[in-house]
Amino acid sequence: MKKAYYFGVDVGGTFTKAALVDAAGKILSRIQVSSAGFNNKAYFAETLYRAVLRLALEARIPLRSVRGMGIGLPGPVDAQRGIILSLTNIRGWSHFSLVRFLKGRVPFPVFIENDANCMALAESRIGAAKGASFALCLTLGTGVGGGLILDREIYRGPFFLGGEVGHMPLDAHGPVCECGGTGCLERYVGNQAIAARARKVFGRDVRLEDMSRMARSGDRRAGKVWKDVALHLALAIGGLMNVLGPEVVVIGGGVAQAGPALLTPLRAYVKKYAMRHLKAKVKITAAALGNDAGLLGAALLAKEKLGQK
Ligand SMILES: [Zn+2]
Repeated sequence: MKKAYYFGVDVGGTFTKAALVDAAGKILSRIQVSSAGFNNKAYFAETLYRAVLRLALEARIPLRSVRGMGIGLPGPVDAQRGIILSLTNIRGWSHFSLVRFLKGRVPFPVFIENDANCMALAESRIGAAKGASFALCLTLGTGVGGGLILDREIYRGPFFLGGEVGHMPLDAHGPVCECGGTGCLERYVGNQAIAARARKVFGRDVRLEDMSRMARSGDRRAGKVWKDVALHLALAIGGLMNVLGPEVVVIGGGVAQAGPALLTPLRAYVKKYAMRHLKAKVKITAAALGNDAGLLGAALLAKEKLGQK
């Protein structure tokens, strides 16, 4: 059979990344562009098409060998009908039929998906949860995204809102969340919450990277901040483990770069909150694909949608 290739695109509020990926999930060429101006949809389509040509040229792959494109987006997506349900980062993209819009503007089929779901798909196929049929993936950053792989499929739920781990309520009296809930996980382990906690402990602003480094070299105050993040994460993860009984829990995103400073106390706390029979079986691990997880997942999504497993 002739070799098949796919484009993976990861649309962010600030930058958008795209890559040409082979069927095994190897990136052959990549590009990053600014997302500024994407509120102009025609400009977005043009930028995308130019990126496609350049990526193919760079990888010396003829465009006719490219089977499809997957696009990951930072908001809920109706993956079946190809509609972005809500997207706050780019003006005018909520309730936008992106797949229909790109038809004819790029020369192959396009599929769209929520970016955390893309990450979960990539980690479960070629990353830290490779081989697992049931995986829970969290991506920790400004927001806390989540993706569930259940029986090898992305779980979206009937309203395409499933898997929003960041909005799992942890405290009935906690802070109000922009999602409309109260005491959501994101309010305790999102970037801003961690920065606020660090400010309290250190009496000044401390960058997250510095706090990871300090924790590694044994700084007790930094260790305390990460332990508190781990505790809140463990409540959510322990609960989800008990409900879903996954094989693997994958922790990714910028905050996860804290590494053992976060993962070691997290594993210890999860033992406290997960059921006895489960906790020995479930592996909690750092994501393997880093910042590429989103675009790799988007490319793999296109591949699987086209039935080329
Ligand atoms: Zn919330």
